[in-house]
Amino acid sequence: MKTSVIGTGHVGLVTGACFAERGHRVLCVDVDRAKIAKLRRGQPTIYEPGLEDLVRRNVKSGRLTFGTSNAEAVAFGRVVFICVPTPPRPDGTADLSFMEAVSRDIAKSLKEYRLVVDKSTVPVHTGERVRQVITKYAPRGADFDVASNPEFLREGAAVQDTLHPDRIVFGAESRRAEMILRELYEPFKAPILCTDIKSAELIKHASNSFLALKISFANALAALCDLAGADVQMVTRGMGMDKRIGPAFLHAGIGYGGSCFPKDVAAFEAISRELGYEFRLLREVQRINEEARDLFLKKVERELWIVKGKKIAAFGLSFKPDTDDVRESVALKVVKALLERGAEVRAYDPQGMERAKEEIPGLRTARSPYEAARGADCALLLTEWKEFRDLDLAKLKKAMAHPTVIDGRDLFDPEKMKEAGFVYRSVGRP
Ligand code: NAD
Repeated sequence: MKTSVIGTGHVGLVTGACFAERGHRVLCVDVDRAKIAKLRRGQPTIYEPGLEDLVRRNVKSGRLTFGTSNAEAVAFGRVVFICVPTPPRPDGTADLSFMEAVSRDIAKSLKEYRLVVDKSTVPVHTGERVRQVITKYAPRGADFDVASNPEFLREGAAVQDTLHPDRIVFGAESRRAEMILRELYEPFKAPILCTDIKSAELIKHASNSFLALKISFANALAALCDLAGADVQMVTRGMGMDKRIGPAFLHAGIGYGGSCFPKDVAAFEAISRELGYEFRLLREVQRINEEARDLFLKKVERELWIVKGKKIAAFGLSFKPDTDDVRESVALKVVKALLERGAEVRAYDPQGMERAKEEIPGLRTARSPYEAARGADCALLLTEWKEFRDLDLAKLKKAMAHPTVIDGRDLFDPEKMKEAGFVYRSVGRP
């Protein structure tokens, strides 16, 4: 099926490439011309395992093409996906101006029937707004449907998640829209849940908020374990063995970050309030998340006493492993806080250093974790890349001035670190 994607970022590019891989003809457009020029050469603009091959293969086969105009997208695809940003405003509400702008562009180019599908994460009622905007700006009698198709991919596993999803959720309010989406997703062979548009919109906010809640629950437990002298990994493992709870997302650390959880939890709280419900639980989820980072910084201070002038190696900058995305990265926030306190930080991340330098101009980086650790008073594990799990501990110890590791992701085994001669601190473990 001819399909267009407006907004060729993390979601749009992966979605477009995966639809092409599953046999559809896809046009991905973006306002960022430099991005499109790169993609036309078959070079992905973000790091995601498997993406480069997928883009190259589908560009070569002609199933995946790129463009720079939204009018072109409307002319091309019977289905038009909107995958533009919905960033947070200072009060936590979602900034829907990109959604509105794209809806107007679509309206102005409507000539024959189009199914307009929102894939961006939006507050409930956005679908109605999109429909109103298109009706207002489109030629009279224009034929279109609006649907919501929330995206659940995880950065770092985006291609895998999109090709083999747990479930496809869409909100469609006409038989025609539902049948088109069923046909489009048929090659993915995944369970489909078709709902009304509002419920689909809520499913996305509710899912991300629930996952964030699980992380904050683990972090609250970690704080308690630190006080009680218990081991949070044992506690969460014991909990996770209960099928009703499950082990996923119960990992204590320095908190969740990224371009989704922080903004989605805040936006969900904000829309709930706007509708008349005070979702206080979500406020607490956010507070615990910030507390996790502060408690980690306190641990660093407890270990170093005076942070100013200390040499600190930071392992990890991306908001999670297997991505170069540093948006709202807690690792980056920790590095920033330490720099503000006068520490000399040298960082290493397998993929995130370039983007991190855009956020922290002048950030000192290294070509390897060992180089980052050279002469350091302390090393901080901030993102749980596999490369760090496999570190040569003897080599690391030799590189450091003082072999102290503070592990913000509970990646290392405390026994092994002790045996290797490190002063080792982690989160919620004795
Ligand atoms: P992104 O910033 O990586 O990409 C968005 C793209 O939209 C950019 O390339 C931008 O240039 C383009 N764009 C902006 N305005 C445009 C316009 N008027 N016309 C055409 N293109 C335009 O963002 P993302 O991470 O892909 O997120 C997009 C949406 O998907 C957000 O609502 C986000 O919450 C949601 N989402 C993201 C993820 C994720 O893991 N990143 C997962 C699920 C859902």
